[in-house]
Amino acid sequence: MSRKTPKKTTTMKESTSTCPVCGYAQLEEPPRNRTGGASMEICACCGFQFGVTDDDHGIGYDEYRQGWIKDGMPWTSKQKTPKNWSPQTQLAGLALSATLKRVKGRPPRMSVQMA
Ligand SMILES: [Zn+2]
Repeated sequence: MSRKTPKKTTTMKESTSTCPVCGYAQLEEPPRNRTGGASMEICACCGFQFGVTDDDHGIGYDEYRQGWIKDGMPWTSKQKTPKNWSPQTQLAGLALSATLKRVKGRPPRMSVQMA
């Protein structure tokens, strides 16, 4: 059996973003764009609306997350709950990526170009 090496594509665009509140990874847009503008998207999972819950209501991600956990981590949207959805796994992933970001002292983007 020979193993095929998958073709590497560098043009892959991330089409989904992760909710900084609950860790839900299927947001349609990044919560904040590069200039800091809010997406106004409502997270299907925790119900946080970027630009409204934070800016208008003054509730931060951590504060909202704590309330959401207290409420039993409900799925708030009318959309169907994803298969195998687990709020605990989501939150664990969020905590892990936050830790990794802290550990890695590297700049987020490295441009190495051989001309
Ligand atoms: Zn969320």
